[in-house]
Amino acid sequence: MHIQKNISLKKYNTFRIDVRAKEFVEINSDEEIQSLILSGILNNKKFFILGGGSNVLFTENFDGIVIKINTKGKKKIKEDSEHIYLLVSAGEDWQNFVEYCLNNNYAGIENLSLIPGTVGAAPVQNIGAYGVELKDVFYELQAIEIESGKKVKFNKDDCEFSYRNSIFKNKLKNKYIILSVILKLNKHPKIKIEYGNIKQELEKSGIKNPGIKEISNAICNIRRNKLPDVEKIGSAGSFFKNPVVDNKTYFRLKNKFPEISAYKLPESKYKLAAGWLIEECGFKGKTIGNAGIYKDQALVIVNHGNANAKEIINVMKKVQKVVYEKFGVKLLPEVNIV
Ligand SMILES: Cc1cc2nc3c(=O)[nH]c(=O)nc-3n(C[C@H](O)[C@H](O)[C@H](O)COP(=O)(O)OP(=O)(O)OC[C@H]3O[C@@H](n4cnc5c(N)ncnc54)[C@H](O)[C@@H]3O)c2cc1C
Repeated sequence: MHIQKNISLKKYNTFRIDVRAKEFVEINSDEEIQSLILSGILNNKKFFILGGGSNVLFTENFDGIVIKINTKGKKKIKEDSEHIYLLVSAGEDWQNFVEYCLNNNYAGIENLSLIPGTVGAAPVQNIGAYGVELKDVFYELQAIEIESGKKVKFNKDDCEFSYRNSIFKNKLKNKYIILSVILKLNKHPKIKIEYGNIKQELEKSGIKNPGIKEISNAICNIRRNKLPDVEKIGSAGSFFKNPVVDNKTYFRLKNKFPEISAYKLPESKYKLAAGWLIEECGFKGKTIGNAGIYKDQALVIVNHGNANAKEIINVMKKVQKVVYEKFGVKLLPEVNIV
């Protein structure tokens, strides 16, 4: 374990923001994490746990230690006639893991294809896409408490998962490092193709009874067409959460904007498509300084090359203000702003 000084974080965040970390350490085993904690190095020091850096906006040089989780490994821990339980290390790349499951015919995460980042970060915001969330396949995770160095298990209820949210973004923010996650995958796929354009995409290729690989391919095609390739354009994917509003607000908006895009949720709530709200305000494809809104998806703020965090925040604030003025709805960032 080697603590480096004054390291640029540009290649470690998909927004490609060029800030520096006072200290930076890459962790390759759970034992290294434990000894880092027990050494007391983190005491009274600012720290940040980093996975793939695909859901973070660094706004200034980080005056503390960035701990980059690179731990690798996956193993089957049990199975029954219906399910297979896989334990996966936090530093595994999410998309590599999805491909491993597709190749072994383990079903349940095909709809979460092509989400950047690591397995360890997936529970933090309960990643979701195309009608599936991590919580649907989550069984348990192991984490280490930063204050004590004690290893603790969290089951699904403990994690308090909700839409793009978990206990690790709230009460337990910066209290634990997730070491590994156990996912409960299906041996017999339960296909979900009702969401978004999956059906249309499958029809284009003449596929009537898709398997999990075909669903994954269809979703990858859709995503490649509407999301920027982070190797070419800096972004953190959807910048804002889709706002959830009550019945009254929804019908007020629906009256005024009959085309509004929304999904009905339980308990008389509606989830509004933030992308639609932003597009209606004319932001889609707009460039503001070195940053802007992606041309094919209004929910995505992009770095056109040399944007600094101030320029990204400036776009964020402009969008929030105009959307609020037009619809009376507050947009909250999904991205972790550091
Ligand atoms: C092009 C693009 C598309 C995207 N599409 C989606 C999508 O469809 N659905 C979706 O949900 N998200 C999406 N995202 C967001 C992002 O990919 C996910 O949130 C992903 O899980 C982040 O993983 P990461 O390893 O990059 O996390 P990071 O950005 O490194 O970290 C995110 C947060 O998790 C914490 N963290 C990371 N690792 C650990 C750990 N081991 N223990 C404790 N805390 C940890 C960090 O401190 C930080 O607060 C997209 C992003 C991009 C760039």
